[in-house]
Amino acid sequence: MTSTDTVTTTTPTPTEQAADWLARFAAALAAGQADTAAALFGEDSYWRDLVSFTWNLRTEEGRGAIHEMLAARLADVQPSNFQLQGDATEAGGITEAWFTFETAVARGLGHLRLMNGLAWTFLTTMVELKGHEEKKGTRRIKGAEHGVHPGRQTWLEARQHEAATLGYTEQPEVVIIGGGQGGIGLGARLRRLGVPTIIIEKNARAGDSWRNRYKSLCLHDPVWYDHMPYLPFPDDWPVFCPKDKVGDWLESYTKLMELNYWSSTVAEKARWDEDAQRWEVRVVRDGQPVTLRPKQLVFALGVSGYANVPKIPGAETFLGQQHHSSKHPGGDAWRGKKAVVLGSNNSAHDICADLWENGADVTMVQRSSTHIAPSDSLMELALGGLYSEQAVASGIDHHKADLVFASVPYKIMHTFHIPVYEEMKRRDADLYRRLEEAGFMLDFGEDGSGLFMKYLRRGSGYYIDVGASELIANGSVHLRSRVDIARVNPTSVTLTDGSELPCDLLVYATGYGSMNNWLADLVSPEVADRVGKCWGLGSATTKDPGPWEGELRNMWKPTPVDNLWIHGGNLHQSRHYSQFLSLQLKARMEGIPTPVYKPAPSHHRR
Ligand SMILES: Cc1cc2nc3c(=O)[nH]c(=O)nc-3n(C[C@H](O)[C@H](O)[C@H](O)COP(=O)(O)OP(=O)(O)OC[C@H]3O[C@@H](n4cnc5c(N)ncnc54)[C@H](O)[C@@H]3O)c2cc1C
Repeated sequence: MTSTDTVTTTTPTPTEQAADWLARFAAALAAGQADTAAALFGEDSYWRDLVSFTWNLRTEEGRGAIHEMLAARLADVQPSNFQLQGDATEAGGITEAWFTFETAVARGLGHLRLMNGLAWTFLTTMVELKGHEEKKGTRRIKGAEHGVHPGRQTWLEARQHEAATLGYTEQPEVVIIGGGQGGIGLGARLRRLGVPTIIIEKNARAGDSWRNRYKSLCLHDPVWYDHMPYLPFPDDWPVFCPKDKVGDWLESYTKLMELNYWSSTVAEKARWDEDAQRWEVRVVRDGQPVTLRPKQLVFALGVSGYANVPKIPGAETFLGQQHHSSKHPGGDAWRGKKAVVLGSNNSAHDICADLWENGADVTMVQRSSTHIAPSDSLMELALGGLYSEQAVASGIDHHKADLVFASVPYKIMHTFHIPVYEEMKRRDADLYRRLEEAGFMLDFGEDGSGLFMKYLRRGSGYYIDVGASELIANGSVHLRSRVDIARVNPTSVTLTDGSELPCDLLVYATGYGSMNNWLADLVSPEVADRVGKCWGLGSATTKDPGPWEGELRNMWKPTPVDNLWIHGGNLHQSRHYSQFLSLQLKARMEGIPTPVYKPAPSHHRR
């Protein structure tokens, strides 16, 4: 080196870092070197795969598990064509990037977080099957058939023919039992993929599962979180949509998406016909029995099972009205009357507020602690970055938001949430203090990770505060906590501390049972037990026993019972995960091999 030479070292940009990592990763995969590829991951790293590598929903936790998965799957998957999408970003020592890729049979989209030059989190998702793409954009059908076609069918005639034959002379590939938002959204995706599907719904109209709920109900989640697949809400749609408006949207959606939606149809029994290798599903449609023989059966009956109504001594002697929250029509009839609401989660709070607004004298009976998340704080602190007008303005629509959300492995998700709820505690300290002074038992989840983790782990135990907490804090709604109802009397209830509350109305806002009780009734208790517990992560917290699962039990992925699937969740989850469930079903219909990597064993019966 001469004295005039200068050494310039430039730090690579985030995009250069991500591109370099991706190129080395792609080269290792192309060379079939699972160990070289795995060495690009940190010791504590996570690879979440939604169908593309594993034909499963799985998170490999740690370099060793990543290596094992790659060693098992690489030859079959044949990943290739990794391309960075847009610029990578860097914040707090973490570089983030998006990329596309291909496998032998599919195209995918992924997300990468690098820490100290090694992958920390890695997400791979299947977007479409090669040769079986949705007919959208440049692939869209013409509609009109120009030219001369003797015996041509109009669109209407073709639809009418399909409606008259599917389920009768033609058998569907898929039957979805349950036509709430879950069944409808999945049905729309399957329709786009050309998978003949019938959705069975016992209610008279699509959307009735929302219409039938108590009349004050509005969605607790904001509009940006709630879009259905393909057809987002108009941009003047309310932030929190009233339930009947959701019902009307779902009904219209069903029609616009050309779904084979059998309303007023009850699924009575289903059994797997070993000889035919198809399900036999007995339904009653408008009073007429029909037997359907689909290859695949999806249960989309809601995340909750049957209403939980506690058996309380003396309940049969009550002279007033008593019902579960799911049967509560609204508070109109209770002006000047005394109401007791047993329970302290979402429905309990909504119903208390509704009764109070209608002039009833209301008491909430709180048996165990509840997490309260004030809606404004939740929107701003927890959801705002991904699902809000500001997020949309900064280029994060719900598609992107769903993937960012999915990119955080469940194992470490709580660590992202704890600071949010720490901030909520500070911001809403006054409300929390006054609630506690009123006797309300508060919690923030066992590890302080708040609402969404409680939802994932146990599906209950919280209220998104849209006003009822103030009524409790200021005493407008009376509160009796740390007690239960020991006995129901003709005109009152006796609490476990011996005190008595007179009441004309008793509402059991006591939640729902396990969702696979549906399976027990509609298929058999044995099949329900083989499928095992649904939902929950195995976090070893209340109502979510271990062992750790890494993904939600049985949801949207192969269950221990072949050709039987479970779909559901809130609007966001139904939208997002229906993509992966629909691709799994389409692949099976097309005879594409779908070897499931490490199907999750069931550790709990129901
Ligand atoms: C009070 C309340 C408020 C909620 N607020 C929100 C919210 O703000 N945002 C959100 O995302 N989620 C909310 N949820 C959760 C909500 O339950 C789900 O988002 C949604 O209803 C789930 O849709 P689904 O299609 O999975 O189930 P469901 O809507 O429950 O649909 C299941 C369908 O199956 C039908 N069915 C049942 N048995 C049979 C049978 N044997 N044959 C035929 N059909 C059958 C039922 O009639 C029903 O229509 C709320 C729930 C409650 C109870």
